[in-house]
Amino acid sequence: MQKKVVILGGGESGAGAAILAKSKGFDVFLSDKGLLHQKYVDVLIRENISFEQSQHSEAIILESDLVVKSPGIPDTVPLIVALKEKGVEVISEIEFAARYTNARLIAITGSNGKTTTTLLTYHLLKNAGLNVGLAGNIGESFALQVAEKDFDFYVLEISSFQLDNIVDFHPNISIILNITPDHLDRYGYDFQNYIDSKFNIIRNQTEDDYLIYFTDSEVLTLELDKRKPAVKNLGISLEEVLSTGSYLLDQNLVSHINGQTFEQNFSQLPIMGPHNAINALAAISVAQLLGINQDKIAEGLKSFTNAPHRLEEVEIIDGVTYVNDSKATNVDSVFYALGSFNQPVVLIAGGVDKGNDYSQIEELVRNKVKGLIVLSKSFEKLKDYFSEVVPQIYTTQDIQDAVNKGKEWSDPGDIVLLSPACASFDLFRNYEDRGDKFKAAVRNLISQ
Ligand code: ADP
Repeated sequence: MQKKVVILGGGESGAGAAILAKSKGFDVFLSDKGLLHQKYVDVLIRENISFEQSQHSEAIILESDLVVKSPGIPDTVPLIVALKEKGVEVISEIEFAARYTNARLIAITGSNGKTTTTLLTYHLLKNAGLNVGLAGNIGESFALQVAEKDFDFYVLEISSFQLDNIVDFHPNISIILNITPDHLDRYGYDFQNYIDSKFNIIRNQTEDDYLIYFTDSEVLTLELDKRKPAVKNLGISLEEVLSTGSYLLDQNLVSHINGQTFEQNFSQLPIMGPHNAINALAAISVAQLLGINQDKIAEGLKSFTNAPHRLEEVEIIDGVTYVNDSKATNVDSVFYALGSFNQPVVLIAGGVDKGNDYSQIEELVRNKVKGLIVLSKSFEKLKDYFSEVVPQIYTTQDIQDAVNKGKEWSDPGDIVLLSPACASFDLFRNYEDRGDKFKAAVRNLISQ
């Protein structure tokens, strides 16, 4: 009899998992509690896959042999608890897709920097002529690509939620960029649970595999000391010269791996800031491990274009550079954004505060920020915290007004930086919408 697979959640990863399951001969049923995007409805109909939306039919779901669960569904919801009690295997789409490919897997996780590092690693490999796919939290799902394509390598952006439901998932190379408190509502408000989830990325790695990690992070080094995993590890550092591994020294990215030394001046690259040096070192480490030729690595680093909304230079107007860092939705990101500039900064921040602790950026704000513009529905927390720290504070709910104030307060050579430290949904649809409206407001200055 055909094995029954239920896919819970019909977004990009759910639709991909359904197609892969169908192609492998399973009896597939997709169920989503919300409304499906029309694009996925069309795909499911075209592929002749049964599905339901706006409900979960428990009777059908509980009868399945295997459940592939969307990362958005917590393990604590009654349906998942019931499935587990019944002994039904519940796995993530990453786990499911990995079961059907022999490609070598490079998996990247961390609280911040995943997308940039994944895109850059993919770009370096592709530029070197490797037959490589890009998947995970980015673009087309891993499962869909496994169903339809035949890559030798995948570079995967992996979130903690995807790592919560793995069984045998086994990257050949894993990267952990950093772990700072995030998503704690999904982890019982216990940071260690979140750390454990991230470290699932190395759970099935063996002594033939590699872990690349940021050695300056105390959380990561302590955790590795505690776990003593079998996997070989390679460090990345901004502070220390490593005999094996990759580091930044006097604005040079240096990597010694497999007897090969690579060096590249960081200031000549299209990405900036210390956080991007970490991300670049991670990507270079992968390229080095795969034996990619030095000229190809250098060429790839120089021709890289990052995704928008990440320290994206928008315009230089009257000598003032306007920078869109709308993706900076937590304090750690703003810490790195401010650390990227030596010039005075007019900072536009605010939005939905997720219990932020601003002490991490207080010193940087004191030294660099000449004016703080709070763009938010509720401005009190930021205003109160920084009232003694910055010379001037302005509050507004209108992004054009915020940008106009930035222009008024800035002098040639300054930076006007949108780096909110907060989520966007009080005034915007999402961080992309906030970044796009910021860019439009900046461009309006030109026509004024
Ligand atoms: P993610 O996919 O993990 O959200 P992104 O690459 O989209 O990461 O970057 C999001 C934001 O995080 C950036 O705007 C930047 O401010 C910050 N960031 C990027 N890389 C790092 C890093 N290695 N360490 C800390 N912060 C970073």
